[in-house]
Amino acid sequence: MTDAVKVGFVPFSTAARGVLVVFCDDALKFGPQATKALGGTAGSVKRAAAASRFKGKSGAVLDILAPEGLKAGRLLVVGTGKAADLKPIDFLKFGGKLASKISGGSEDVLVVADNASGSMRAAQAVSLASGIRLRAYRFDRYKTKKKDDDNAPMKAQFSIAVSDVAAVKKAYTPESHIVDGVVLARELVNEPPNILFPVEFARRATQLRKLGVQVDVLDVAAMTKLKMGALLGVGQGSSHDSRTVVMRWNGGKRGEQPIAFIGKGVCFDTGGISIKPAGSMEDMKGDMGGAACVVGLMHVLAARKAKVNVVGAIGIVENMPDGNAQRPGDIVTSMSGQTIEIINTDAEGRLVLADVLWYVAQKYKPKFMIDLATLTGAILVALGIDYAGLFSNNDKLSERLMEAGQETGERVWRMPLGPEYDKQIDSQFADMKNTGGRNGGSITAAQFLQRFVDNTPWAHLDIAGTAMGVPASDLNRSWGSGFGVRLLNRLVADHYEAKK
Ligand code: MN
Ligand code: ZN
Repeated sequence: MTDAVKVGFVPFSTAARGVLVVFCDDALKFGPQATKALGGTAGSVKRAAAASRFKGKSGAVLDILAPEGLKAGRLLVVGTGKAADLKPIDFLKFGGKLASKISGGSEDVLVVADNASGSMRAAQAVSLASGIRLRAYRFDRYKTKKKDDDNAPMKAQFSIAVSDVAAVKKAYTPESHIVDGVVLARELVNEPPNILFPVEFARRATQLRKLGVQVDVLDVAAMTKLKMGALLGVGQGSSHDSRTVVMRWNGGKRGEQPIAFIGKGVCFDTGGISIKPAGSMEDMKGDMGGAACVVGLMHVLAARKAKVNVVGAIGIVENMPDGNAQRPGDIVTSMSGQTIEIINTDAEGRLVLADVLWYVAQKYKPKFMIDLATLTGAILVALGIDYAGLFSNNDKLSERLMEAGQETGERVWRMPLGPEYDKQIDSQFADMKNTGGRNGGSITAAQFLQRFVDNTPWAHLDIAGTAMGVPASDLNRSWGSGFGVRLLNRLVADHYEAKK
């Protein structure tokens, strides 16, 4: 992983050498530890703030030469807005904000973790650390010339000064696994498609075995035996064989019904015979963002030894045009026995998911299934890039997902399902067709999936707008976002783990 940034915790007595970071509220009030760290310079910092029109608004940063009298060379003041109404997600963003001000090079950064209302709690200091790491991550494995500042590898050392170092370190361990999982998901999304083809993707998933995850890889022969005709049809035009990978983490009670996460893993989507236009086709290396999220999530749950039984299943294929590729007009038989007329070979993700959803529903009888997929361009038209589309047959699961979305900032917006939409995918020649036309495109895609969940409580997240290609944010500057890892970890932690 290209996660070179180092984050550690030190006592408040530590002196700053390179960059000093302190927080203030929107009355430009510093906490007691920040005041101490600033020595007698708080007055000149306030004058600098006034000259720069810095008002301590949430997430605003004052970036100045450190005033005379400080050992540090540079001072960053991060505004927290109203100190009274800060939420956990705010501290994550503050960490990201301050990291965004530190470019390459080997800077030594001391972050004083207090604000106007006093020392930060352990959980808040930990969120700062996570925010720093999430924002500092960059994907630069294939850059051989790392000379200019922006391409220089991040070597900064962040030290977060806190009151109880031991307590914060203890709280940080499980949280750091969450960042690791997000970074893993981003890595998979960012990797080029000539490197990360289905067999290689499956191999990387098997590395979760080191954490105690059981990983089974189904090859083409195994999937043929299972009659996964929908998934296999998508991959048949590629020189790379398809795979389904099933990952199991059994941290819950023996024999307890698992929960399940399913991911679309189209390593590259040309559209197939219904080929896409050339513009931005390179982005289709990210069409495995759902599968990447499931692998990242399984990493988090296993690494922090979550007390729950979980199945993670991903269908991994490459969708190529070829003499052997599937045609519009073909009729394939899915594992469920239902037949599908192929109208457009570019609507391939739902074909992959159809067989994996059915397989998981039959074999593991989970409490619920949540699938993630970069499924439709239509979800971008509907929701843009700030919310993922949520489709579900279960109100309770939906509410929990929306709540976890607000808490983590990985937000989801519920979209409708209904028989009116379902009719749109009825076929003249088979049980259904794989597209429902232009209107409600993300909804008819979800209707298609619903035909394969066999009444299991289920939610589908269309992450085509949120998984990749989003502009740099407080928590991410890389092309792949790792969207969904923090959301689903939160859902599991809040509702499905046995309490310790
Ligand atoms: Mn497609
Ligand atoms: Zn696709």
